[in-house]
Amino acid sequence: MAYFDNNATTRPCEGALVSYSKALSGDWRNPSAPSSAAARVRAKLDLAREQLATCLGVSPDTVSFTSGATESNNAVFSYISRHASSDSRVLLSPVEHPSVREAARRYFPGRVDELAVGGSEIVDPSILAPALDATEVALVSVMAANNETGVIQPWEQIAEICRVHGVPFHCDATQWLGKLPSGEFDACDYLSASAHKFGGVKGVGILKAPAEVSFIVGGEQEVGRRAGTENFPGVAAMLAALEEAYSFGKAPILEQARNAFEESLRASIPGVEVLGENLSRLWNVSALLMPRFENLRWVGKLEKMGHEVSTGSACATGQDGPSHVSVAMGFSSEQARRVVRVSGSRETTPAEWSSLADAFRLAYAELQADSSSYEVVSI
Ligand code: PMP
Repeated sequence: MAYFDNNATTRPCEGALVSYSKALSGDWRNPSAPSSAAARVRAKLDLAREQLATCLGVSPDTVSFTSGATESNNAVFSYISRHASSDSRVLLSPVEHPSVREAARRYFPGRVDELAVGGSEIVDPSILAPALDATEVALVSVMAANNETGVIQPWEQIAEICRVHGVPFHCDATQWLGKLPSGEFDACDYLSASAHKFGGVKGVGILKAPAEVSFIVGGEQEVGRRAGTENFPGVAAMLAALEEAYSFGKAPILEQARNAFEESLRASIPGVEVLGENLSRLWNVSALLMPRFENLRWVGKLEKMGHEVSTGSACATGQDGPSHVSVAMGFSSEQARRVVRVSGSRETTPAEWSSLADAFRLAYAELQADSSSYEVVSI
């Protein structure tokens, strides 16, 4: 099966698997225990924190390990709500992941504003400064790259505007990390990511936050910021995955193969549209608005042909209604149900992209044939 759902999760990379099993069998002790063997695990954990911080371009005392981006995102809104004035508001892009949208709604009920994107999906930084001047804003949260379309937000500019206005800025970098350069994150006061999106294992993630931020209480782990026994094997695997991702670099060939796939689709399926095609996008994603047939039918056909693709965000699966990302881009509910998401990885070969394009062509022919035979039967 050719795997094209890497924005949902990635296969753990070789380096992550090796580090994980080595740590599970050798470094399984509780890092907070008093033995010298446990102290060695603690030292390794602290070293991993320093190495991760270097990779992110931030100070190690701002990096906490969490269970993933959902926890990190929730932690940010929960912490900010406890320290903000009761009438302050939060500003989000309308295309944030549900773990940001829902956390904002829970902790700032009735006090969440969306930054207009004018159908393009990209936040216009020029509207931010007036918005910050107009109301008391406790936090601005704009993701680095979108999980459904791969569209990249001008988060560095947004971070700078927030800095000038003295308003904290949170960036959900879950889809960016491991795919695009990571060294400039010091510009973000808060940053979230999940290891399994870049070749690590599930159940471990990052929260970058000011050193005084404490968000889960209990034991004194993570210098009292995030209680709970540390997941050293997960952290070791995350570091290995990040190092592997960045040693690979951004090979232009990956983007060329994705672009060639889109070209080939346009040539063979009239009316297909690529969401955000003229915008700056991640190199691994194509969000395709198909001219006919609901996305689940495409997904089923393509799977039978050996290609695993998706309808959009796995976190939205099972939700009624269209994707909020498609709606923000100005598509109707009916159009949103025709969106198929394809997301490769650095391991996806040009031959796999090209075979996916062939499978789409074949799936279209079969879906058309199925629907015309259905019409004949129903007459
Ligand atoms: N933010 C973004 C942009 C994501 O793509 C995801 C995963 N779909 C998350 C947050 C949540 O990550 P996790 O499920 O690993 O907590």
